[in-house]
Amino acid sequence: MLEQPKLLRRPLPPKLLPELRIPRKKTQKEIALAEKMKKASLLEHTLEDEGNASVTDSLTFHAHEKRGRMFSEEMVVEPCALDDDDVYVQGIGYKTILTKQDEEEELMDRAKNAVFYCLMHQKTGLSLKAYFLFHLPDLTPLVNTLVYLNLSFSNLQFFPREVYNLQKLQVLKVRNNPIKEIPDDIHKLRTLRKFIISFNLLSVLPTGLFSLPYLWYLDVAYNDISVIPSEIKNLRALEYLDVEGNQLCVLPGGVLKLPLKSLRVENNFMHPFLWNESCQNQPQRLTDLAAFSFSKNNLGQRYKEIPKDIQNILCNFTLCDYCNGPLYGQGLHCIRTQRSIFRSHRLPFLFNACSSSCYRSFMSQTAAMSQIFYRDGFELQHRNW
Ligand SMILES: [Zn+2]
Repeated sequence: MLEQPKLLRRPLPPKLLPELRIPRKKTQKEIALAEKMKKASLLEHTLEDEGNASVTDSLTFHAHEKRGRMFSEEMVVEPCALDDDDVYVQGIGYKTILTKQDEEEELMDRAKNAVFYCLMHQKTGLSLKAYFLFHLPDLTPLVNTLVYLNLSFSNLQFFPREVYNLQKLQVLKVRNNPIKEIPDDIHKLRTLRKFIISFNLLSVLPTGLFSLPYLWYLDVAYNDISVIPSEIKNLRALEYLDVEGNQLCVLPGGVLKLPLKSLRVENNFMHPFLWNESCQNQPQRLTDLAAFSFSKNNLGQRYKEIPKDIQNILCNFTLCDYCNGPLYGQGLHCIRTQRSIFRSHRLPFLFNACSSSCYRSFMSQTAAMSQIFYRDGFELQHRNW
């Protein structure tokens, strides 16, 4: 005998059926409560939509997130306990959308407060990190006291020249800004010891940077730099150099003269396959060759009356990496590698020779680069690694 299948749904008791067919009339209190909930929900959604549209950066996002949370907590907690006026005063009276100008002013106010705090408490360090500033607040009250200044993670599009007035500044950090150029008059920061300007948009390093006498730490990682000037050899206090993440094929020979204890060069284009492009030589200009010949043969002693434009050419020279004599124009490039230096297995260095004779002599050298470049008596005590 077959067993009768069980019903999947339990039948409703007959006494509840009429209630389902005929909706119960809502009381006045329930209608008022539903109306309040509807208004609160509508207002909250409107504000959330507007808030999402105005989010432009992370800071704005955090600001809105915080405000959204505050508003939503106030709205959700016992909405029925609030009158209509209470709901609307809180919703409309609270400004959730900031214009770009309002945001900048708010951030600038924060920065001014930080300067004021620094002044009141006689602090020597000021961090405006992640203030997203487009320009600096007035640092005049701190020009004689500030030693440390952090301007990282901001929106500075130009190097802030106001820092030149800081007489005692030793540490300057401007990491993660859209700065494209360091002005040559950075040499005015005579007391600077640590300079971090990584993750910017730099393509060249100015000569003025290499005349800072006390610079001990230089970080220019993750920029767009393809050449480091040979004048870097003038930084005789430099012990930490970070050029990681740039477009460098070689290092300048002057780096061998630095007392470096740490050198970071990863994520560049230093593979030997790319060296040929870096050291391709063009014929030397006749003007440069003539100036070289004039200088090497000491013809200045024979010809006393030299025209002004010729004097300008004769005075405009750098130094040959090999003979330390005058180098006119680009000279002749050559790449030599140095093994086991600066804790790296093999680093390519670029040298500029003043003439073809210097170039041939240099390329025929079998001695290590360090021996060639330290013959001027520069001590090796820091480089035994
Ligand atoms: Zn030379």
